[in-house]
Amino acid sequence: MSWITEIARPDIHALAPYQHAAWEPGLVRLHANELPWRSLADGSDAGLNRYPEPHPHALAARLAQFYEVDADAVLPCRGSDEAIDLLTRCYARCGRDAIVITPPTFGMYALCARVQGATIIEVPLRRESSYSVDLPALHKAVTSAVKLVYLCSPNNPTGNLIDRATVLSLAGALAGRALLVIDEAYVEFSGSASLSAELRAHPGLVILRTMSKAHGLAGARCGAVLAHPEIIALLRRVIQPYAVTQLTIEAVARALEPTALEESRQRVAQVISERERMAAALAARISVRHVWPSAANFLLVECADAGAALQRCHAAGLLVRDLRHLPSLGQAVRLSIGTPEHNDRLLEVLP
Ligand SMILES: *Cc1c(COP(=O)(O)O)cnc(C)c1O
Repeated sequence: MSWITEIARPDIHALAPYQHAAWEPGLVRLHANELPWRSLADGSDAGLNRYPEPHPHALAARLAQFYEVDADAVLPCRGSDEAIDLLTRCYARCGRDAIVITPPTFGMYALCARVQGATIIEVPLRRESSYSVDLPALHKAVTSAVKLVYLCSPNNPTGNLIDRATVLSLAGALAGRALLVIDEAYVEFSGSASLSAELRAHPGLVILRTMSKAHGLAGARCGAVLAHPEIIALLRRVIQPYAVTQLTIEAVARALEPTALEESRQRVAQVISERERMAAALAARISVRHVWPSAANFLLVECADAGAALQRCHAAGLLVRDLRHLPSLGQAVRLSIGTPEHNDRLLEVLP
């Protein structure tokens, strides 16, 4: 057992995994108390009257090929949200262990830690340093209680990418102590490569990917953990059997076919070009104080009066995200890049 497993919760090591019904697709299933007929409501290929594969190997293998990692280095899950939940439950003991986050950032890291009863240590990203990671402060924050350090790159909601050198130096410094989790939900929009090629050199690195953004499958709920096989094996003890539904397995398989991937690439390129058009157009608005550069599919926009901007958008039938409650964001809103028509409407509404 190496350190990446040793720092996990001891009760997870001791856990006997759930004994799900055997998976032998060639045989008649009289062992799982399913109905033998398909429902009229069933639009799937394989039949929703049957439980899906408990741990979907073919999906994992396809995701591994796509993300260019080994098959045993992938865990498909119910969105990266579930990945965050699994990591927290496997690594953070209630009342004893801690996670480190860099707010303003994605809310799920802290939420899962709170549910688990783990301590949350914050190392804020500061406006005056363009929301870049404060490495010295981060090093100081990593006490012996810290098991997980989360970095989101590109970061939601600030849009900036964390440079590779920062991540790798941190991965080195955390070796033997805590896992470094890099949430790459938006990496497709960044023009930069995923850090997945670094997994072999850094066993404590965990990368989160999702089908929700660039692949247009937010409604299907599918994400993936890319990590050392020992970490994947541990998370698999805790993930629910049948976590990924049959409809999702089929939708993701289709999304990873060459024509769908080509379409996704074109959509990503379109989003990037609209993002740059919107950033320039918004920066010229008197209601806008500052538009932060973005490597994602959204823009962080500081308004003269965020409340007024939100109201105008809502009155015009456009929902944008209010970020005034987050630390150091002031009068900020987050705008997702829509179709060119949606974006034009937004520009019409903001003076
Ligand atoms: C949208 C988003 C995700 C994706 O979550 P899913 O559960 O995969 O839909 C993950 N991380 C961040 C930072 C996000 O903004």
